[in-house]
Amino acid sequence: MPKSAYRLRLPGPTEVPARVLLATARPVLNHRGPEFAEMLGETADMLRPVMGTRNEIMVFASSGTGVMEAAVANTIAPGEKVLILTNGQWGGRFKSIATALGLGNDVEEIEVAWGDAVSGEALRERLAGGGYAAVIAIHNESSTGAVSDLEAIGAAVAETDAILIVDSVSGLGGIEMRQDDWGVDVLVSASQKALMCPPGLGLASVSDKAWKRIDAERGQARFYWDFRKALDWAKKGQTAFTPPVTLVAGLHEALTAMHEEGMANVLSRHARLSAALRAGAEALGLALFPSSPITSNTVGVFHVPEGIDGTAIVRAMYEDHGSVIAGARNAFRGKMIRIGTMGSISVEDILMDLDHLGQVLVKLGADCDAEAGVDAASTFLGRNG
Ligand SMILES: *Cc1c(COP(=O)(O)O)cnc(C)c1O
Repeated sequence: MPKSAYRLRLPGPTEVPARVLLATARPVLNHRGPEFAEMLGETADMLRPVMGTRNEIMVFASSGTGVMEAAVANTIAPGEKVLILTNGQWGGRFKSIATALGLGNDVEEIEVAWGDAVSGEALRERLAGGGYAAVIAIHNESSTGAVSDLEAIGAAVAETDAILIVDSVSGLGGIEMRQDDWGVDVLVSASQKALMCPPGLGLASVSDKAWKRIDAERGQARFYWDFRKALDWAKKGQTAFTPPVTLVAGLHEALTAMHEEGMANVLSRHARLSAALRAGAEALGLALFPSSPITSNTVGVFHVPEGIDGTAIVRAMYEDHGSVIAGARNAFRGKMIRIGTMGSISVEDILMDLDHLGQVLVKLGADCDAEAGVDAASTFLGRNG
């Protein structure tokens, strides 16, 4: 057990505000009754501006991976070609899903180095070869802190018959999303990241272009995940199967809080606080990991200094300070740390992260001033008021 209070500072799940937790503690409603229908309808109404869409919103009991699988299962049939834009861990997850669904023979990838992102031009060149049913992109690659240029990617895909499937599990609510304007055909997300809810809700929103693929029966294997059933029930203010009623209440409350703050303010808070964390980390000698043109506002990913073990940083952050941050469970194990900058985060959270990080680095023998991170972040925040 840590010596101090538990601080959940992962790139998901994120800390859940008290008002959201309290909302999840309200009595369970009849999921076929008018009270739940009203709550679900309002939740969808509040989600649409966050997603930048006018689509119906479908809600599932699942983690993010569930709706990732749903997106593939509904839109792609055996023999249809899929192009995955892989720049980290989550493109690989989509490949595993497609393979498990028996679509593996027709999966292609554009792979770039971890930390980078696939450009619109690279995609356009590849699409000229033709014949893809779907392109899959990760909005915010939480394993590296790289953000995809969805506007450019969407524009390239829109020129073709392919649909664009986007995983914004760790972006939505913390990084701008304009689904309709950018031509994102299937957008999937989940409750436990920037939407600051407990884990357990998967979300999906689908364009008319994608509905044509979904509605055309070509042997897609789907039952629980059938978007056609989900849409029919969503229109009635219900879900096809018993939903996690308490989590919908939590999401309703979280979205209420986000709209009270104002979406533009929510996004600029993420931008400002993540930049403050980066400024502080740099002052402590932690180089930024992502090299992509767009850097994440929802997760800070950093190389650890030469000679310091990243897993020791993660352990000491927890044991000495109660701060639960992430390392890497891949080739970068011990070489990077990741800190969530999404959801209900405040200036105090970021300064405390940097205070703890400075102390831990000095304890582990890093050549830095323990206070340099807090100082640099404070200076940054003072200038960017
Ligand atoms: C967290 C995350 C997911 C979802 O993971 P689950 O554990 O299934 O909820 C998917 N994609 C990205 C980019 C994520 O950051």
